[in-house]
This record gives sequence, C-alpha cells and structure tokens, in this order.
Amino acid sequence: MCYSGLLPWYDQHKRVLPFRGIRDPYGIWVSEIMLQQTRTETVAGYYTRFLSLFPTVSALAAAPEEAVLKAWEGLGYYSRARNLHRAAQVIAAQYGGIFPGDYEAIRALPGVGDYTAAAVSSIAFGLPYPAIDGNLTRVISRVHGIREDVGIPSVKRRIAELAMAHIDRERPGDWNQALMDLGATVCVPGTPDCARCPLAAGCDACAEEDADLLPVRAAAKPPVPVDVGVGLVTCGDRILMQRRDAALLRGLWVFFLMEGDASRESMQKKLRSLGLDAAYKTDLGEARHVFTHRVWNMRLYHFEAPEPIPLQDFSWVDAEQLRALPLPTAMRAAKKAAEAILNAAPCIK
Ligand code: SF4
Repeated sequence: MCYSGLLPWYDQHKRVLPFRGIRDPYGIWVSEIMLQQTRTETVAGYYTRFLSLFPTVSALAAAPEEAVLKAWEGLGYYSRARNLHRAAQVIAAQYGGIFPGDYEAIRALPGVGDYTAAAVSSIAFGLPYPAIDGNLTRVISRVHGIREDVGIPSVKRRIAELAMAHIDRERPGDWNQALMDLGATVCVPGTPDCARCPLAAGCDACAEEDADLLPVRAAAKPPVPVDVGVGLVTCGDRILMQRRDAALLRGLWVFFLMEGDASRESMQKKLRSLGLDAAYKTDLGEARHVFTHRVWNMRLYHFEAPEPIPLQDFSWVDAEQLRALPLPTAMRAAKKAAEAILNAAPCIK
C-alpha cells in the first residue's frame, strides 16, 4: 500500500505543538480554526493564550464578542473568531456545553466546513473522515499523479475519494495529522524532499520527477486595489474610533475611514457632513494591507477637532481605552501614529 510507511514515519517525526496529542474536541477545534490561513508557528502562541482566557466551550460562549476579538487581534480573518464564538453559543444552548461527537453535528456549527469537521471528528472522536486541506491535496495529487486543476469539482471529488479509500481506519486522526506534517515538512510546495519521504516508493510524481509542478492550480485572481483614507481625528487626548459594521472586519474598531477615496479634502468634507469641523494638521504617510480579495492602499492624516462632540456610531477614546479595543492588523501603522499623537497631547476633561 502506498501509505503504509506514513504512520511509522509520523510516530517518529511528528511536530511538537501545544495542540498535538490532545483528544479534547474543544482544543482541537480552536486550533484547527486558527490554523486556517495562518502559519503554525504563529498559531502556537495564540492558541495557548486563547485557551487560558476561554478554557471551555461554556467560557467562550459566555464571553463578550469584543473579548474574543481582542484575543484574536493580529491573527486576521476575524470572521473565524466571530463564528467560533457563535458556534460555542450553539454548543452551550443545544448540547449543554458538551462538544457534539458526530460529523454531521460538528459540520453544522457556524464557521465549520468539511475540513474542520473532518479534523475534529477524526482526531477527537476517531471517526474515519479525511481532513482535506492544501497539504493533503498536494500530497495526494503527487502520490496518485493527478495532473488536472485541483480546483475543478470532479478533481476535488477524486481526491476526496482517494483520501477516503486510504485513510487508516484504526488511527484516522493520526493519519490526517501525519499528512499535515508531511505536507508541511517534506512534501512542501515547490520542490519536495522525496529522499526523506515515507511515501516515495509508491509516489507517481516522484517516479515521474514532476512533483514541483503539482498540484496543478488555476492562477488566483489578484486582489483588487482600493484607496482608503485613514483619519486620525483627535481632540486633546481623545481620538475618534468606530466599530466596523461592514462585512470586512465586522466588530473590530478602526479610525475614521473612507474607502474608495483617500484624499484629504474628501475626508474633511465627510467629517463636516457629520458635524465635525476638524482642522487638518498633517499628513502621516502611507500604509498597505493585503486582504484575500482586496488591497487597502491607505493614506493617513491627522485632523484636530475643536470639541469631542458625540457622533452616532463613533466613540472618543483615550490612549488606554485605545489599547483595550480590538483593532485589525490593517490599522497597525495608524495605531502606532495615534499612540504617538495621544501620548504627546494635553489632557482634556
Ligand atoms: S515522494 Fe516526494 S512528491 Fe511524493 S509524496 Fe513524498 S515528498 Fe511528496
């Protein structure tokens, strides 16, 4: 069998990670959600802190969303945190805080797709579901010599069928984790290290010497550039902040933003339309943040308002309150500039 060397290899070479070797479905679920689109080394620190803040499903369900977003700050893709929170509330309400133990119930939770449901089912409950992510797709396409675009539904189905046919029924969780580790350390994107691979003897791409060309993927569309004006609107030692309601970065706090127009004049006009006659102070330079489907090309300005008048959907916060708010990574440069301004500002009552 082409996968017979996999588990002995895993027993010897598995990566040491804080979420490895655990059977607690809650911890496995949190780690799998964090690992989506995020590097394993980054996740390790976040995972330990998140579990110490919210040690159980019930603790997570009972926490305010803002506390969950704050714990997620810097990890990106914040819909993962919002869904994690909502799913914990579903588990608390529908299952009395006990993590459901069957695939369909796990798959039905908010933010849980086929991959996460399979990972939790197999690792925590020993159910034979292959966790098909980028790593597993790469290894399977190479071992079985699949040379068609892996984004095509029929090719995806074929990969899923092959994984299902080969998953180890005794140790499905370890089989999935072994492929994750093999894909991360040996059968890496680009040129794999076939000389160290336990699957080399039965690997089609290794025999054909075209592993570096697999898997075949259609080129992704580049993210769309968007000009964004970022206004640091201060009044003494306070700064104007807004909690996002738009789908992108919902629930996180941002400075005064204008998407689609980054000119100082437009920003000042918009502030005036809100009733705030803020004076332009200085240009704070540029920043850039790449999301999955768009790029924010940001221009940062400092404006000074004569009075901290209350504005609907906005709050005036001081430096300490600013530190406590969950801000997206896209605001990192603006936050640094804001802290410098606030720390140098005179106190107002
Ligand atoms: S032999 Fe090479 S290409 Fe095949 S699975 Fe192993 S590392 Fe990947």
